[in-house]
Amino acid sequence: MKKIHHKRRRPRIDILFTFVISTLILGAGYLLFLSSNGSASPSKNKGHATAPPSTIDTMDSKYPGIKIISEISNDLDIPFAIQYPQSAHETFNDTIKTYIKKANNAYLTEIMEQQKPKNKLTAELNISFETYVHPSGLYSFVLLSDSSVEGANKTTEIRTFLLNPETGQSPTIEDILEHDVERLKNVATTVQGQLHKDLSIKDDLLANKIEEYTQPIWDNYRRFALTDDAIVFYFNPSEITTGSLDTPSVSIPLVTLNDLLAADYKGKEEKKPVGKRVALTFDDGPELNVTTQILETLKKYDAKATFFMLGSRVEYYPEIAKSVQAAGHELGNHSWNHPNLNKADINKIQEEINKTSAIIEEVTGQKATLFRPPYGAFNDTVKAQSDLPIALWDVDTLDWKHRNADQLLAHIKQHTKDGSIILMHDIHQSTADGLDAVLAYLQSEGYTFVTVSELN
Ligand code: ZN
Repeated sequence: MKKIHHKRRRPRIDILFTFVISTLILGAGYLLFLSSNGSASPSKNKGHATAPPSTIDTMDSKYPGIKIISEISNDLDIPFAIQYPQSAHETFNDTIKTYIKKANNAYLTEIMEQQKPKNKLTAELNISFETYVHPSGLYSFVLLSDSSVEGANKTTEIRTFLLNPETGQSPTIEDILEHDVERLKNVATTVQGQLHKDLSIKDDLLANKIEEYTQPIWDNYRRFALTDDAIVFYFNPSEITTGSLDTPSVSIPLVTLNDLLAADYKGKEEKKPVGKRVALTFDDGPELNVTTQILETLKKYDAKATFFMLGSRVEYYPEIAKSVQAAGHELGNHSWNHPNLNKADINKIQEEINKTSAIIEEVTGQKATLFRPPYGAFNDTVKAQSDLPIALWDVDTLDWKHRNADQLLAHIKQHTKDGSIILMHDIHQSTADGLDAVLAYLQSEGYTFVTVSELN
């Protein structure tokens, strides 16, 4: 499990931004200095937490529907720089603003309580945030608030706010775990284990505090974010460490929690890397003995293939056609009588294709999914008459010509590559006889045997 650190690492833009702001503040301070020298100025501490004048800006973010509000103090003695997200949803915006206001008030109150001339104080408040997007479109905003007054009271606080930008709703941890405390217990165990393994805070951890703040009660798990593939739980450093400034967090891949998560939040199972694949195709059948033998060999290797059948032969060997379907192979249409359709008129083309599709479905109960024109010959007219995708091949074994099991294998060895579609005919005994060696060879080369549609 990976761990997300939230150190004092600032993106470059923030550094630039801070520089510009600092320059402005210095400039403003200088002007104030000039004016206060000119006349009696009310620059003394007034004794209550009035927010100093500030500059508020609204910027676009790279996240659709989200703006960044930035508020910078214009009072050099009470500096603060606050950034927070704003959406199109008022309830969400109010929640964030309330939090910001509270944090700012706490800061100002603490300054006031120092009972020191404010120009003798060293104080700082920075609130910044990071944005994560879950594949469902859900935003997670992680607000980090650093404040210090007189150096000694440096505190770091983390808060998270979730937003479904379409509905304006903010899912809670109860929503994510479907209000099931057993699931929360499961998550808590993982979180506890990860925290104890976290070397970056190892020396600062307070074991009894970890226990308290990771107990499986909902309130302990309200600070979380959903990233593209993980759920991250945050803890305030003051809660579980001896004054570490690193923000402890635990990131758990969503896929490992899929049994616990509500449907909208489940992680995507990663697809297994696809190895080399090949599609074996058999044309012009079915035939009584050859097709049957081929089916047996395919079964031996747990191989799926595609059979491009002639309608006339399906009519003649319905039981064989049926057993091809029953073995789980793909069924293709190869016309009724095997004419060169480029030389046929529209009515003939339609009849060849439609009659064949009809009998395949009638006999096997399964629809043909592909059309392979006889000889691979087709023009725009033929194409326009076929509702089915046209499927050709790239490896022609010429099995109809050489009728030789050894040559069948030699052709395939020479021409097959990942993704190949191999053309054979299940009407030649030599093809049935050579197939075992072909499958053994391809398997030893790491190929899996798929249907043409699976390949595409
Ligand atoms: Zn053919």
